[in-house]
Amino acid sequence: MPNRVLLAASRSKRLESLIVSTKFTRSVADRFVAGETLEQALAAARTLRSRGMESILDYLGENVRDTDEADLAAAHYLRSLFAISSGEMDCHISVKLTQVGLDISFEDSLDRMKQICAKAQDMGTIVAIDMESREYTDRTIETYRRLRANFDNVVLCLQAYLKRTAGDVRDLLPMKPAIRICKGAYDEPSDVAFDRSATNESFKEIMSVLLETCPYTAIATHDQSLIDEAKRLSRNRQIPPSRFEFQMLYGVRRELQRKLILQGHRLRIYLPFGNQWYPYLMRRLAERPANLKFFLEAVLRG
Ligand SMILES: Cc1cc2nc3c(=O)[nH]c(=O)nc-3n(C[C@H](O)[C@H](O)[C@H](O)COP(=O)(O)OP(=O)(O)OC[C@H]3O[C@@H](n4cnc5c(N)ncnc54)[C@H](O)[C@@H]3O)c2cc1C
Repeated sequence: MPNRVLLAASRSKRLESLIVSTKFTRSVADRFVAGETLEQALAAARTLRSRGMESILDYLGENVRDTDEADLAAAHYLRSLFAISSGEMDCHISVKLTQVGLDISFEDSLDRMKQICAKAQDMGTIVAIDMESREYTDRTIETYRRLRANFDNVVLCLQAYLKRTAGDVRDLLPMKPAIRICKGAYDEPSDVAFDRSATNESFKEIMSVLLETCPYTAIATHDQSLIDEAKRLSRNRQIPPSRFEFQMLYGVRRELQRKLILQGHRLRIYLPFGNQWYPYLMRRLAERPANLKFFLEAVLRG
């Protein structure tokens, strides 16, 4: 499970201002974040495309408390969609609902998502909804249901570490949902979340149901055993490549990314950009304590 101290640090505003103002920590962030501007993110997406990988643009930001900020985030996504369509790339976008105002108003954040989905539909691309911590799960699923009633181009992220997720998948199956399944990146207590090995079992079971039933599934993991299981399931059940893709995070397990492409699999890279990189970076450090060494060296230098 992710490191709890680092996940707690990801929510500290005091640490955030210390760390973002430290010169060398920016260089650590660069490993996981494609740049501060849309242009830098699109340049990274083009480079990935030249290597056979597609992208998902994530404009960093979460838990906005102000309506203007939520409007600005939505406007930024609309601009990103326009730029994607002019660049002729197979690029999705991924949105956190708290970035478009879920903490302020459910209905207003839903309206912003409707605008984003409508624009993405016009542009022929897909909007994924990130899943945040457990207090948002119900509202995120409800947002997906309401969007799905009008749009085909929406993907919902679900987290295998939550004990409720297999039930959520069962409830969603009648609408043939498009799901991105991941392990989950937040600090959740043991009454709602599995430990590491049960999370992997849960991931395998959910992935099996999704691959069997749904028109599109995104398998978002860098875990070799889960990737092998996905390959085995798709081979044994003759699930065509058009029905699923692997997804990984920018800067994580680049060798494995290249290997999947050489083996002929579809791979999409989640490409975060923007200047609100602190909580995202801390979650990536929490997933792999070995990353912390480089980070602490940068803080000390900085
Ligand atoms: C495309 C995509 C979208 C995601 N969206 C969400 C979301 O909406 N909500 C959410 O809660 N989580 C999301 N996640 C994060 C996810 O939940 C996990 O926290 C993350 O993917 C690590 O889990 P893992 O499956 O790779 O397995 P792990 O067991 O954590 O990792 C497997 C191996 O991958 C390598 N690795 C994993 N993470 C790192 C890292 N940060 N740095 C270096 N090496 C690493 C290590 O070698 C590790 O042994 C997303 C992940 C991906 C790939």
